[in-house]
Amino acid sequence: MTWTNINIGLKIEIQDKLLDSLIAIGKCHYPNEFGGFLIGFYSEDYRQLNITDHILPDKYKGTRYLFERDATGIDDKLKEFYNQNPQKYYVGEWHTHPDNLPIPSSTDIDAMKSIAAHGDVAIKNPALLIIGYNHSKVEIGFYALLNHKLYKYDTL
Ligand SMILES: [Zn+2]
Repeated sequence: MTWTNINIGLKIEIQDKLLDSLIAIGKCHYPNEFGGFLIGFYSEDYRQLNITDHILPDKYKGTRYLFERDATGIDDKLKEFYNQNPQKYYVGEWHTHPDNLPIPSSTDIDAMKSIAAHGDVAIKNPALLIIGYNHSKVEIGFYALLNHKLYKYDTL
């Protein structure tokens, strides 16, 4: 499935199978938030981000309204992954919002800015996937940080 931001002309593509498994993993931690690291690659013109894999954090803090992953040990996991998949790299973060909408909190926005500025696994345009869910439905929110601003992506 593809998410697009028409204003900035960028796309994010994620395989349904990967998205489904993130939703399933996230739901296991109900009622607490849970999440991890997104892996993928950009198209040659950098207009489309393809998310293809994910890595779970070794250490994290997940409460009902907060998820903080700890990047401790993630460098080794990423290095191992890069060795086997030299064309893919860390592209962003995902976490759940149990019983809530997939709208980034101010903490979420600050976290993305700090990743772009000086994260342990820093990149310029980190993507943020938020999975909002309750007992009857799942809502997906895709965002990416560009020039210090978080942009929402929509399905067309
Ligand atoms: Zn959040």
